[in-house]
Amino acid sequence: TDTIGTTTLLDWITRFRDAVVEKRDWLTELDSAIGDADHGANMARGMTAVVDKLGGGVPATADELLKGVGMTLVSSVGGASGPLYGTLFLRMGMTAGAVTELDAAALAAALRAGLEGIVARGKAEAGDKTMFDAMSPAVDAFDAAIGGGADLASASRRAAEAAAAGRDATLPLVARKGRASYLGERSAGHIDPGAASTAILFDTLAAAIA
Ligand code: ADP
Ligand code: MG
Ligand code: MG
Repeated sequence: TDTIGTTTLLDWITRFRDAVVEKRDWLTELDSAIGDADHGANMARGMTAVVDKLGGGVPATADELLKGVGMTLVSSVGGASGPLYGTLFLRMGMTAGAVTELDAAALAAALRAGLEGIVARGKAEAGDKTMFDAMSPAVDAFDAAIGGGADLASASRRAAEAAAAGRDATLPLVARKGRASYLGERSAGHIDPGAASTAILFDTLAAAIA
């Protein structure tokens, strides 16, 4: 059967940490154009705290792992991205429950609940130029692939492609949420930093599952 277990979830989290640390300067550069130049530092600090807290041990269940990730992000990242990514992982954990393996439908449900948590928290809508614009198409693509009978690896690859396209599509948008919205029309012409880190999130999920 096609499932993702706690070891693979931890591999995803570790890959996400590695990638945001590696791309810290780029994420910060994106945020310096339309925000306060800290998105790279926020994500690198948060995900480093997450992996340090886990200390190399694999938590027994998906909810323990994912909720722990969410709580550490909320407590270690001061910016908007901390509570938003924190909520994503907390909701994913609550939805996954105390299981050791998630099948494709369970992972799809967890991702959907995580996205809904971000919306409940930040009220972003499509086209507001936020992480939602990468995450929502990614979750939709994952659902569509699973619904069409794809396995976890190809569904997560499709999700990563959709997230990257969503990230790129934020470039011309005028921001309506978050700090970038203070710039009004001047926020157009730049990729949203949170959409960029979200594309990394789905890229690393696909890499962990592959
Ligand atoms: P801050 O803006 O507090 O410095 P970060 O720079 O770490 O925090 O994160 C900024 C990103 O957070 C934005 O690029 C955007 O994607 C995301 N964001 C901000 N506000 C919202 C919101 N209300 N809903 C969804 N995402 C948001
Ligand atoms: Mg910022
Ligand atoms: Mg900030």
